Amino acid sequence: MAGTKKCIVTGGAGFIGSNLVDALVDQGHTVTVLDNFSTGRPENLSHHLKNPILSLIEADISNISDIEEYFKGVDWVFHLAALADIVPSIVHPMQYHLSNVDGTIAVLEASRKAEVKRFVYAASSSCYGLPDVFPTPETAPIRPMYPYALTKNVGEQYVLHWNNLYNLPCVSLRLFNVYGPRARTTGTYGAVFGVFLAQKLAGKPYTVVGDGNQTRDFTYVTDVADAFIKAAESEISGEIFNVGSGGTYSINELVGHLGGPVDYIPKRPGEPDCTFADISKITKQLGWTPQITFPKGVEQMLRHIDDWRDAPLWERQSIAEATKDWFKYLGKEQ
Ligand code: UDP
Repeated sequence: MAGTKKCIVTGGAGFIGSNLVDALVDQGHTVTVLDNFSTGRPENLSHHLKNPILSLIEADISNISDIEEYFKGVDWVFHLAALADIVPSIVHPMQYHLSNVDGTIAVLEASRKAEVKRFVYAASSSCYGLPDVFPTPETAPIRPMYPYALTKNVGEQYVLHWNNLYNLPCVSLRLFNVYGPRARTTGTYGAVFGVFLAQKLAGKPYTVVGDGNQTRDFTYVTDVADAFIKAAESEISGEIFNVGSGGTYSINELVGHLGGPVDYIPKRPGEPDCTFADISKITKQLGWTPQITFPKGVEQMLRHIDDWRDAPLWERQSIAEATKDWFKYLGKEQ
């Protein structure tokens, strides 16, 4: 097909990665997924497995010799492979460095040697820490509060360095609270949607943090996938763009959409009362605008609620246990 590209998606078996793969495949691009399946799941791509334009490779990005061969002749690299979640990053900072920093350098080097045409990096809005300005622009101060935020931001600095020094055309997208189908259903405590949907299925109360008036810029995953593709198609490089929904929504509002009882649990230290992206830069420069409103996105999640049938069920006590180190290291009164 004319105009189709040869792509690599690292972390393509994960939540955001697999939704990006769907969008690329839909547009006729050829995709190689590199994933070590540490949190990504082959099932996220099972609907493509008979499609010859997708190759799914089990490989660890932090080892360049394992991945280099796949970059030959590639046009676009989307680098999403990373360890996510706050608490495990506090407990295992070196693992996060290895995946998110060393892994990023390896993917950059493989891309540079293969002379790929575009490199798009999944950065995190957690770099803003507790922002002073809302909506928050890309120029806001960088204040990582825990190793996940730090390592994703250091990765971004490497990406921009490879752009500036080696002329590898790179773009970094700072993603705000991405949600949607295939949001992780297993493993550690995190991501409010998975927690609440499992609670809804079990008929248990939603564990709302603090008073629930804190707001998040919940951004729907298909909009995020579209932002990645727009960034690859563009000729702009060396730039950072926020990717947000254009709004910010309280946890109480989310509960209102889901319906059901609430159990209020303690406010978590070091967490922002609001996240809200200023998306004027990406709108202007990449011509990207989010399409899925919050009520529409929540409706889609409810339509897929059965996907959370096997998700861990969190409640007050297990959350207190799981977030012990969070309170220990980010708490003020020590
Ligand atoms: N949250 C909540 N109950 C939970 C988990 C999260 O009320 O069991 C809230 C949390 O306080 C935050 C929002 O949901 O305001 C999003 O949390 P998440 O961990 O998904 O993302 P974060 O923005 O903290 O990275």
